[in-house]
Amino acid sequence: MDNIEKQNDFIREIINNDIKTNKYNGRVHTRFPPEPNGYLHIGHAKSICLNFGIADQYNGLCNLRFDDTNPSKEETEYVESIKDNIRWLGFDWNDRLYFASDYFNQMYEYAIDLIKKGKAYVDDQTPEDISRNRGTFTEAGNESPFRNRSIEENLSLFEQMKQGIFKDGEKVLRAKIDMTHPNINMRDPIIYRILHASHHRTGDTWCIYPTYDWAHGLEDSIEKITHSICTLEFENHRPLYDWFLEQLDVYRPQQIEFARLNLSYTVMSKRMLKELVDEKHVNGWDDPRLPTISGMRRRGFSPSSIQNFCKKIGIAKANSLIDYGFLEHSVRDDLNKTALRFMGVLRPLKVVIDNYPEGQVEELEAINNPEDESAGKRNIPFSKEIYVEQTDFMEEPYKKFYRLSIGREVRLRYGYFITCTDIVKENDKVVTLHCTYDPETKGGYAPDNRKVKSTIHWVSADQSIDAEIHLYDRLFTEEDPTGHDFYDFKDLLNPDSHKVLKDCKVEPNISNLKAFDRFQFERLGYFCIDPDTTNNQIIINRTVTLRDSWKKIQKQFKEKK
Ligand code: ATP
Ligand code: MG
Repeated sequence: MDNIEKQNDFIREIINNDIKTNKYNGRVHTRFPPEPNGYLHIGHAKSICLNFGIADQYNGLCNLRFDDTNPSKEETEYVESIKDNIRWLGFDWNDRLYFASDYFNQMYEYAIDLIKKGKAYVDDQTPEDISRNRGTFTEAGNESPFRNRSIEENLSLFEQMKQGIFKDGEKVLRAKIDMTHPNINMRDPIIYRILHASHHRTGDTWCIYPTYDWAHGLEDSIEKITHSICTLEFENHRPLYDWFLEQLDVYRPQQIEFARLNLSYTVMSKRMLKELVDEKHVNGWDDPRLPTISGMRRRGFSPSSIQNFCKKIGIAKANSLIDYGFLEHSVRDDLNKTALRFMGVLRPLKVVIDNYPEGQVEELEAINNPEDESAGKRNIPFSKEIYVEQTDFMEEPYKKFYRLSIGREVRLRYGYFITCTDIVKENDKVVTLHCTYDPETKGGYAPDNRKVKSTIHWVSADQSIDAEIHLYDRLFTEEDPTGHDFYDFKDLLNPDSHKVLKDCKVEPNISNLKAFDRFQFERLGYFCIDPDTTNNQIIINRTVTLRDSWKKIQKQFKEKK
């Protein structure tokens, strides 16, 4: 909450001013209005943090309202996932859960009201004619031949539309504003269309459905919202938002627009995300590579890392593209403070410590989180045979390689100094290292103060447990995958975005963790337990490496091409 308290931006300035002038009697009431046609993504998180954050900051309220004015399939699954995601992010709508579809009757009554005021008419033009007659940015539109129907005729036709007398597209209800208006949105916008489709909540009660422009302001008005915050593309819909409420002479919230979040190396439109899911380019909506909240959760992002990210990018009036690396920075920053440390080996190489007693197992003490003393200590088993990372050994080390090679001494983290004495090869591949250890160096310090240049992680061979570890990378190879004329965004998917390592060895303490628990493997990055983990198979996802290795990888990728 501290973080949110300190925030200030142009929206909060508007609110401060409205409080000063007592515009809404000092009330602050926002809403988050998702359309339940997909899972929420990080862009929605920005909107959630903004709307719920403002309500918290000003002792106001924030409604969760499903903007379900469009009948479509599978909406219930989306509704549930959206509720879960918002709670997981740390926000609560209490008893203020609403559905736009609950207002269908009221919206219909308002439409009748508008017709009675002579401000709406039923149009019989084909959808093609309507769109052609709308005009362009430079040319005025043409009035419909049906524009001057009598109020009685409009009332009766609208009633028949509702009764299901007409087919889809045969008629629409339009507001009667001005076909020459410089703002195209004001050229007699459609407010109701015929759609013989079942709705997830109202079933087959309705065959006419309100458009976004008609519905949204009414929803806000009915709920007595004070500040209706939306993204920039609605800026030139605001005159219409205001016009409807003014004509109907009802309570009027104010619409405020801000720049949507765009993130590099990913896509954020629900349509595109759905395509990736439906065509199985990813494994479901919670695939850890997706920018969905469910995907990020599965990947190991913490709610506070997402909140902090949304706070740091701020609220602006101009669109921009945020670097994906900035999101990763936020998660590193947060997990560094909170994540317990463990050891695990991704690509194991067996080490036999020749002078260590056969059959002996000792417990070594390890610090759980150097950033947080209260996290305490744990024991890790050590024995004659251990695994180290294949990449921590080189037969012919290059100049600045200070890790294991024949004759070289290194420190085992929380363990002993070991020196490599010999190697065993099979088919030209190093399969075992022989080492000796110095019993005087327990805990990692030499009594004679001799130094080693490198400390490596390890696990005890017999006491370690097997794990499958999934490594993830950017989903796309291009910063802006939708910004190409010649490529479909799916042609720009990164073929190396998901790697599965099956033979990993991790310290036994990992078995105490449960699904979604986040932690650090020393030297390797932040990780989290995948919910598909079973008693027989631990599955772990890498959230992010400790440092940003992407720039290097991308350079290699470009060179390869
Ligand atoms: P999409 O383009 O992904 O389908 P949408 O705007 O249609 O998104 P809604 O479910 O209508 O999705 O959005 C709910 C709320 O979240 C809206 O108030 C919308 O402005 C906001 N929102 C959606 N995408 C972003 C984004 N990228 N950045 C900030 N806010 C967003
Ligand atoms: Mg929308």
